[in-house]
Amino acid sequence: MLLQPLVGVSPLSVRNSYEFVDFLNENSCRHNDVMISCDVTSLFTKVPVDLALNVVRELLTKDSSLNERSLLSCDEIVQLLEFCLKSTSFVFRGEIYAQNFGCSMGSPISTIVANLVMEHIERVIFSQSSFDVLFWKRFVDDTWIVINKDDVRNFFAHINNIEPSIKFTMEMENDLQTISFLDVSIRRENDRTFSSQVHRKPTHTDRYLDFHSHHPMTHKRSVARALYHRATRICSRPHDTQEEVKWLEHVLRINNFPPFVLSQVKTKSTLMRQFPEKQASKLILPYIRGCSERIARILKQFDIFTVYKPVKKLSSVFRLPKDPISEELVSGVVYKIPCNDCEQVYIGQTGNSLATRVKQHKAACVHFQPQKSALAEHSLTASHQINWSGACVLSRETRWRQRLFLEAVHTNLQEGLTLNRCEPSSADQYCNYLR
Ligand SMILES: [Zn+2]
Repeated sequence: MLLQPLVGVSPLSVRNSYEFVDFLNENSCRHNDVMISCDVTSLFTKVPVDLALNVVRELLTKDSSLNERSLLSCDEIVQLLEFCLKSTSFVFRGEIYAQNFGCSMGSPISTIVANLVMEHIERVIFSQSSFDVLFWKRFVDDTWIVINKDDVRNFFAHINNIEPSIKFTMEMENDLQTISFLDVSIRRENDRTFSSQVHRKPTHTDRYLDFHSHHPMTHKRSVARALYHRATRICSRPHDTQEEVKWLEHVLRINNFPPFVLSQVKTKSTLMRQFPEKQASKLILPYIRGCSERIARILKQFDIFTVYKPVKKLSSVFRLPKDPISEELVSGVVYKIPCNDCEQVYIGQTGNSLATRVKQHKAACVHFQPQKSALAEHSLTASHQINWSGACVLSRETRWRQRLFLEAVHTNLQEGLTLNRCEPSSADQYCNYLR
């Protein structure tokens, strides 16, 4: 929120391939030009953090709208950013490591910081250079450049001399005067205009969501729609669009799509039906074939629009390369603590970890503070021992409202054998419906 408005204001960057194709259609090159593409080698981990902080400070100082976005001063924001960027640590095979250079991969702030640093480097490149560069378009670490062919070698040396850690690699256009950038293959035509086609890497497998897979129809249709939209938007010549649609028909067929899906998405009316203009309330449901569609039909009567999410994702099948955190140290859990001397259990939820919460319950028992813990109250009034080693995590959920709901579900499952003394929450009402 604080830094995002500073990114992408430069005319040298593009937001997506559609914006890039529009640019190509409106521009042409000169007779002595060639196209090259430059890539920064592992950008995120090569961003110098101190340079990033200076760039952000400079931009925020000049930003007159900062006080409308935040009560924090420029110095405070830079301090916070420094803390985020310099406190990256991770665990690998039981050892704790600190990252001592660059931004961490996967952190949401890294993309913004990397973009801001690249924009700064671009300003330096063009403030010092007298090279004959016609166009420079960049998407994060990938750049498409049109330049006078006599300047290529020196320009490449120049851009690699700006920051010691930021190194560009270069690719020249091929013999067909073609080069790829994002998912666009760009050709320099003899009349000096550009033409564009969809670019697929040689390793592309033509595998998409299979039509027979356990997914909602809307997801399957959107695969066809996205590919059709790309074919019509990216290809600049009618012949290329036809070829791309032919490929698309072939690829949908091998992924078991019946032909009617493509004919449906070709008509615009389908688009309108999928995304009603009036933005109704939205509900996100896990997808279970047959059941989810029925629920969606009922909700539709009340103007509630249903979005499905798959129950199982690839990330849940393939293990993360990170070390697992032990269950009692995970934050945001619903947990159970049983009594040692009777059938009763305590069901609770916490945004902290189970280990922290158990410590708090134990302290309440030791210091005779029944007002602080229902477990302490039970152990005092019934003279029962609490089975601390039996404490376990029932569900993991970082979102507060969803956690309260899960707590109510688990409390309900105990059939009244709980030590909980809270008033039934509104989530209890849902549980009754779900029975
Ligand atoms: Zn008991």
